[in-house]
Amino acid sequence: MSFLYRSTRNENETATASEAILKGLAEEGGLFVPDEIPELDVPFEELAEMDYKEIAYEVMSRMLTDFTEEELMYCINGAYDSKFDTELIAPVKYHHGAYILELFHGKTIAFKDMALSILPYLMTTAAKKNNIDKEIVILTATSGDTGKAALAGFADVPGTRIAVFYPKNGVSPVQEKQMVTEKGKNTFVAGITGNFDDAQTGVKKMFSDKALAEYLDEKGFQFSSANSINIGRLVPQMVYYVYAYTRLVASGMISAGDEINVVVPTGNFGNILAAYYASQMGLPVKKFICASNDNKVLYDFFTTGEYDKNREFILTSSPSMDILISSNLERLIYRIAGNDAEKNSELMKSLNETGKYEITDEMKKNLYQFYGNYATSDEVSETIRTVYNEDGYVLDTHTAVAVNVYDKYKAETEDTTPTVIASTASPYKFARSVVTAIDPKLSSEGDFDLVDALEDISKIKVPQAVEEIRTAPVLHDTVCDKEEMEAVVKKFLGI
Ligand SMILES: *Cc1c(COP(=O)(O)O)cnc(C)c1O
Repeated sequence: MSFLYRSTRNENETATASEAILKGLAEEGGLFVPDEIPELDVPFEELAEMDYKEIAYEVMSRMLTDFTEEELMYCINGAYDSKFDTELIAPVKYHHGAYILELFHGKTIAFKDMALSILPYLMTTAAKKNNIDKEIVILTATSGDTGKAALAGFADVPGTRIAVFYPKNGVSPVQEKQMVTEKGKNTFVAGITGNFDDAQTGVKKMFSDKALAEYLDEKGFQFSSANSINIGRLVPQMVYYVYAYTRLVASGMISAGDEINVVVPTGNFGNILAAYYASQMGLPVKKFICASNDNKVLYDFFTTGEYDKNREFILTSSPSMDILISSNLERLIYRIAGNDAEKNSELMKSLNETGKYEITDEMKKNLYQFYGNYATSDEVSETIRTVYNEDGYVLDTHTAVAVNVYDKYKAETEDTTPTVIASTASPYKFARSVVTAIDPKLSSEGDFDLVDALEDISKIKVPQAVEEIRTAPVLHDTVCDKEEMEAVVKKFLGI
């Protein structure tokens, strides 16, 4: 059975899965969404016997219907190999009364690796299927983690180039060093004097510039995206929710068919949307708990039904979630409006023009499975300290936002449903915030001294991803204004 993706802003614009992956974004700023999510018609008991790659095939083959089995297996086998430091790919651990799904065992130690290790395979396979002879230029805005994961995935992949924009003063020292030391010959990295939203808006603007697209076409290039606006990011992210559920079934923690809650530390709304899509495929999820930091635009939205980005942008200890325009929320808005592109366009136009929109009561009813709350940076430090003191487990700042919000949810609802918390980064990526939360006396130490201190604290070896940047030379030192993004991309491409 084959199905199509459709633009959230124009019901007449459709694409096959491979076309949607290649394009990244639909016309006029729309996002590609599946018309409907097919059922995962394999019993959970059976899935519980499968490993990560086998489950990836079951889930992804339902969503990427124009890829052959051979093509998909090639992509899956290329992605989920020894780049990950465990054969489990995404281990599930039990701490602080919840199942922590560790999504940071890939090459760049953030959950972005889960999708970005496979996206280059999907992209180049899609190019071949669609007879694309142009060089694909991946444009990426990053709040810190997507950048390095995308660079690592696309570095030296023939037929591709990649440009990454990050907020110059809005990422952790380890995140920045990881990006600016990238060696791939087809890579370009620039800091912008602005925040993540500026970077994402600049990238989206280039995508929807028709004249620019024509100019690129003449020169033999075409843009695509490695952000979670690309469906090729979301589909691989559905896999690990099914995987986590089936590990709980396999270990007897739950029975097949039992409901779970999922808690997701959220920024651009990609990760939690993937959980929602997985539930539409048949995963029994009771509540989607959306955890925000001080940039709590989503908490306000779930509480009031109004999305309002007109507020101060706050730099927090969880920088990968410092976002006021959560792009993927648009996909949920479209769905709760009853797959209504017209209604969605109206709301997105309002967001664009006034910075806010309000959903109807009818739409709000369709959000009954979502719960939103937030944690301040002080609460995050406290949670890291508390969980560490319980059993020595060290959370990164983003996962700590989720754990803190889960505590609030439990206190409010007394819900005892087994709960999976998405752990989105290794604490090593945010060593300064994590170590000083546990031992404030160390706050005057240098960044790599803190990394060594974390090894003592956590009893977990410093990951290769951090070791390799200790002494690596800086290879990318471009800093530009948001208005200069197009110019620097052209310069990078030599056009
Ligand atoms: C990207 C990121 C998030 C937010 O994920 P979204 O899919 O953008 O909501 C949370 N934590 C970490 C560590 C991240 O890198």
